Amino acid sequence: MIVVMKVGSSDKEIEGVIKRIESAGLKTHVSQGVERTIIGVVGQIFPELQDMLEMLHGVDEVIRVSKPYKLSSREFHPLDTTVKVGDITIGGKEIVVMAGPCAVESEQQIFETANAVKAAGANILRGGAFKPSTSPYQFRGLGEPGLELLARVKKDVGLPVITEVMSTGDVELVAAYADILQIGARNMQNFSLLEEVAKTGKPVMLKRGLSATVQEWLLAAEYILAQGNGQLILCERGIRTFETYTRNTMDISVIPIIEKVSHLPIIADPSHGTGKWYLVIPMALAAVAAGADGIMVEVHPHPDLALKDGAQSLTFTNFQQLMSQLEHVAKAVGRHIAGSSAGAKS
Ligand code: PEP
Ligand code: MN
Repeated sequence: MIVVMKVGSSDKEIEGVIKRIESAGLKTHVSQGVERTIIGVVGQIFPELQDMLEMLHGVDEVIRVSKPYKLSSREFHPLDTTVKVGDITIGGKEIVVMAGPCAVESEQQIFETANAVKAAGANILRGGAFKPSTSPYQFRGLGEPGLELLARVKKDVGLPVITEVMSTGDVELVAAYADILQIGARNMQNFSLLEEVAKTGKPVMLKRGLSATVQEWLLAAEYILAQGNGQLILCERGIRTFETYTRNTMDISVIPIIEKVSHLPIIADPSHGTGKWYLVIPMALAAVAAGADGIMVEVHPHPDLALKDGAQSLTFTNFQQLMSQLEHVAKAVGRHIAGSSAGAKS
């Protein structure tokens, strides 16, 4: 249920509504818009509540949100959410590009890649130190030494970093290094991890689960938002279908769906979304054309030698090609790549 306050309602009126809701044993989440304040009511809603709240001073409307997810819904937060990472804004007019290797492998590999992606116009460096792996026999990341390499490369090259946290026990450690904490697809429904990560107050990127519906994904987002952390980004990374030609099926249609039903920014990951390097550029362009707020792509100095996900990694040359094509698509949909000269002109 959401309570829409009248335009210009006073702090006292807002406070009165919050008190009334809380005295009924329910929780509130306040969304302060430019014109109006919206108060989200979470908990066991009882039938008389709507009438009760409608009578209070300053209340314009009380709307029952039909969807099970509330805080992530557009109804609760009509304006787009933007997530700030340094001087980068995710979810605004700009397209944000996150690029880097699947996993941090060595000092040379991460420095070379960071320099190359930065020179080509990437805004954020990606790289896993703790890697989820379907097989326990595959490379599972360097762990803490990998995080230390990320910290050094961040300082020297000057790119913020996004990296995955896989377990509640590692949240504090990873949060000390990461600018954005990534929740991987396999952990989308690890609810205790979602809550721990949210409590750090840092920006979080929540990847869609391998077989998650939109509703399941947004309910997972709800776990983070309900902890009071609104710095949340969603990431479509392909879903499992009957098709075996690709690793996953990149669900481009979910991008405008999320934009319609939620206020959260959405990033597209065509590397995991397809599993094949030659599909990454077309799917990245399609995602931005469909309204994605950014892309996450895997880039490696030598994809054929990569310890993880080489088949879906772009070479430096391919990444440069992607960046130049992306600028045109962004422009066609009235946007530009963050930090690009095209943005400075517009
Ligand atoms: C990743 O981005 O490195 C990753 C493991 O992705 P996903 O969780 O989408 O499989
Ligand atoms: Mn990967």
